[in-house]
Amino acid sequence: AVTRTPFIAGNWKMNLDHLQAIAFVQKLAWSLQDAKHDFDAVEVAVFPPFTDLRSVQTLVSADKLPLAYGAQDVSAQDSGAFTGEISGAFLSQLDCRYVIIGHSERRTLHNESDELVRSKTAAALKHGVTPVICVGETAEDLEKHGSSAVPVSQLRAALEGVSADADIVVAYEPVWAIGSGQAATPEQAEQVAAALRAVLSESLGDDAAARTRILYGGSVKSGNIAGFMREPNIDGALVGGASLDATEFSNIARFQ
Ligand code: PEP
Repeated sequence: AVTRTPFIAGNWKMNLDHLQAIAFVQKLAWSLQDAKHDFDAVEVAVFPPFTDLRSVQTLVSADKLPLAYGAQDVSAQDSGAFTGEISGAFLSQLDCRYVIIGHSERRTLHNESDELVRSKTAAALKHGVTPVICVGETAEDLEKHGSSAVPVSQLRAALEGVSADADIVVAYEPVWAIGSGQAATPEQAEQVAAALRAVLSESLGDDAAARTRILYGGSVKSGNIAGFMREPNIDGALVGGASLDATEFSNIARFQ
């Protein structure tokens, strides 16, 4: 059977400038090392703002920290007259292993469509950066269509044209659970994660479905992570608010 390395990812959103980022990453690394964190057994990544990435890269490489990092968004374009956009090529040059794509805040506040999420996914893969594709239903979607329908159709759309051997991560983040303090139950999240794994299988084949990590996100904290990690189709978490406290985030990474 394929084993999927658990993945704990911290989305900082628009918090921590490049100086605060250095202090925070040092503290997080100490905290994890203090807890004898096995980085091969559980991968840990942070997703700082773009302006922090160079500082994080310098620190991680100078101190040989076993932490991964990535960006919170990427342009669908490679280069050119796209004011304010950031190319996947730039992320790749800064050794970003990952990039978050289609976070609900971007879908809602910046009107990102399924089509744009698909183009950004393709752009990330083209530049060798692993997309963390976010999908999830709003409270209204949940009431009208149940929990799985919207995330399933968002993931299907994002995977159009993706090759079977592509390295991707999927994050199921019910919009009503993000920043609300009201996490989904592990059972609810597992049900959608299983439906998303079926989409992976249908779009990319059984091998990709078995290998690809599916994260849960939405009000995850150290007190509720264990329940999610016990579910067979949940391989980790995308953490917002609780990722800004180094001790709390390191406790989430030690979910066992
Ligand atoms: C997120 O924004 O990806 C998220 C899961 O936020 P929070 O953990 O704060 O709900």
